[in-house]
Amino acid sequence: CGIVGYVGKRDSQNILIEGLKKLEYRGYDSAGLAVFTSDGLQITKSMGRLVNLENVLADAPLAGFIGIGHTRWATHGKPSDVNSHPHTDNSKKFSVVHNGIIENYMSLKEELAASGHVFVSETDTEVISHLIASLYEGDIVKAVQKAITRMTGAFALGVLTEYEPDKLVAVRFFSPLIIGVGEGENFIGSDIPAILDYTRNVYILNDGEMAVLTKDGVELMTLEGNFISRELFHVDWDI
Ligand code: GLU
Repeated sequence: CGIVGYVGKRDSQNILIEGLKKLEYRGYDSAGLAVFTSDGLQITKSMGRLVNLENVLADAPLAGFIGIGHTRWATHGKPSDVNSHPHTDNSKKFSVVHNGIIENYMSLKEELAASGHVFVSETDTEVISHLIASLYEGDIVKAVQKAITRMTGAFALGVLTEYEPDKLVAVRFFSPLIIGVGEGENFIGSDIPAILDYTRNVYILNDGEMAVLTKDGVELMTLEGNFISRELFHVDWDI
């Protein structure tokens, strides 16, 4: 299972796919991308090998400068197109990739369903996108922070919303995640090889930390929102 994300000045689709290829060693049963396109936030996903996703994208590319991608190793819900990530909410304005497990997803799902949220997958992850949507009041960083206070388990997240299409929010909580820092572009990945073709400057996140990426910069903070200053780590090895 692997997460990638890109925000910058280049078309994101191929950068995301190439990043996912570098994470193939982590194992997966399905793959998907969400990209902010001229038609809004669009999701394409497919069960099976990455080449299946590539074939779908060859016929219907996702053009846009910000996106997230995922290779899934199913823990909750069988491998299928609909259970693949990214997941979204009923408004389709939010999009989430997740590595890990949300232990209390059942109770959150029941609570959200009772307030009108309709779920299409069997995954724990879909609950995160609905939860963030339900807590959104104009600030995606705050909505993600609030959502996390409700979640137990292990998670690395990449989050996009159509309402703030310049921002990619990343979270690390007992699942791996690193940030790649480029020039006019920034990246997230489950592991360093995912971003090494594009930059060698990296922030290593610790558990309990998050990052807000735009094309022009990266802010690191705790899950409570306290800003963190950290030295860039320079990767001087090759894969
Ligand atoms: N628990 C999530 C799922 O089954 C994420 C699995 C993963 O880390 O790939 O969809």
